[in-house]
Amino acid sequence: MRIPRDMLDEIVAHSQEEAPNECCGLIGGSNGEATTLYRARNEFESPLRYNVDPRDLLRITGEIEDRGEELAGIYHSHTRSEAYPSQTDVNLATNWPDPLYLICSLADADRPVVRAFTIREGRIEDAGLEPVES
Ligand SMILES: [Zn+2]
Repeated sequence: MRIPRDMLDEIVAHSQEEAPNECCGLIGGSNGEATTLYRARNEFESPLRYNVDPRDLLRITGEIEDRGEELAGIYHSHTRSEAYPSQTDVNLATNWPDPLYLICSLADADRPVVRAFTIREGRIEDAGLEPVES
């Protein structure tokens, strides 16, 4: 997925603001390009897991539809572990197989890492992120 550098920076900023809890949000896009970032609340307010607050999910998916975008990605942060889906993340993805899963790791505070994956039928695969100038 092509993604504006600004959006990657915004994901890192959101992750840092919510730390030590995990943050989460949705990304609208079209034709393999991320176009809009939507911050959401982590229903669990937890450092170990996330779930997009159901009210936010409803509101944001409505906005995505209104803009003619698709739900291109779901992002969340790992404040202490690497940028790789946990078993909890894999379980959560069962209901939403299509979007990319972006994970921002703050494990090395000086070097935040954002990576993207597809998670389908329990299988995790690396998905490329191609930063583009905004
Ligand atoms: Zn996770």
